[in-house]
Amino acid sequence: MVTGKTLKEIIKKAEENGFNFYTWYCKQRNLGYNTPEVKEAFYFVLSNKFMLTALIFSHDFAKAYWGENKHSFNGVDMCSVCGYYDEVIKIEYCYEHHLQQIALKKQRIKYLERFLK
Ligand SMILES: [Zn+2]
Repeated sequence: MVTGKTLKEIIKKAEENGFNFYTWYCKQRNLGYNTPEVKEAFYFVLSNKFMLTALIFSHDFAKAYWGENKHSFNGVDMCSVCGYYDEVIKIEYCYEHHLQQIALKKQRIKYLERFLK
């Protein structure tokens, strides 16, 4: 369960880094920008588990939320930015690692909240 305050903060952080919530929402629901339902976008996502999950797993959202940095190994095995470790590097970007991690979590909002600051 996510509160409106928390979801607003999460979306705000992504928007500060180039994500456009309304563009995503319209595309997701196949709506025109001037459709009346767009005004309710935030509350629709807040109250709809499917839409919330779609937002969390949107690559555009993830890129904005965690940034589009490649892993930083600096001679060690674990990425110093996101903690990614694998014997064979299968993914290139930190946000992809976060998407894999959040997929395993039961409390996905809690995972996102850790990166709000
Ligand atoms: Zn990384």
